[in-house]
Amino acid sequence: MTAEYAVPAAARPTVEVTDRAPRFPVRRIFCVARNYPEHAREMGMSGERAPPFFFSKPADAVIASGSDVRYPPRTANLHHEIELVVALGAGGREIGIDAALSLVFGYAAGNDLTRRDVQSAAREQGRPWDAAKGFDFAAPISPIVPAARIGHPAAGRIWLEVNGKLRQQGDLADMIWSVPEVIAELSTWFELAAGDLIFTGTPAGVGPLVPGDRVQGGVEGVAMLEHAIVAR
Ligand code: MN
Repeated sequence: MTAEYAVPAAARPTVEVTDRAPRFPVRRIFCVARNYPEHAREMGMSGERAPPFFFSKPADAVIASGSDVRYPPRTANLHHEIELVVALGAGGREIGIDAALSLVFGYAAGNDLTRRDVQSAAREQGRPWDAAKGFDFAAPISPIVPAARIGHPAAGRIWLEVNGKLRQQGDLADMIWSVPEVIAELSTWFELAAGDLIFTGTPAGVGPLVPGDRVQGGVEGVAMLEHAIVAR
């Protein structure tokens, strides 16, 4: 008997959907950088409305809420970034702002985990961000809540606590680029498709995580996310 593939095929990464709906199959993970003015300023940027720029994580970086996330190797400064995540139910290219929300299947809360020391060095040396952003289990994510149930949130509190202490707080209304604008712009760079996740940027207050930490966060009206950080 001939095997279907030359080597074992990895399972498709998926994310739970609320209400016992079938799971969401992840195709690609796109992320928006510097999308809240206060966070852009804490990263040393102006916080002005410059065109958005994007980076990616591998699809299998997702890890479910409630999980233990192992502290990654090759960093001494792992940072949390709580974000609204958009889950696409359809895609396309050159999508208009007015049509963008019709492609959204649902929303989640995610943590764009970052090797901040690696990212800072990459910035200084003009190197790629992949190792800073795209490592194993770098995308803890809550269950996805269908837009059919909650609509399309344009405002609402977004926050993150570590061991019960508030670290990050903002409001979706403060995003420099709105969700429809992000989808429209992203679709000029990449053909989008069902299964794509978009991390839409983090508010101010990013900071370090260490083994033993318990992370809790969420987006008002959308979902809650929690996970632990454990030693490797
Ligand atoms: Mn981020």
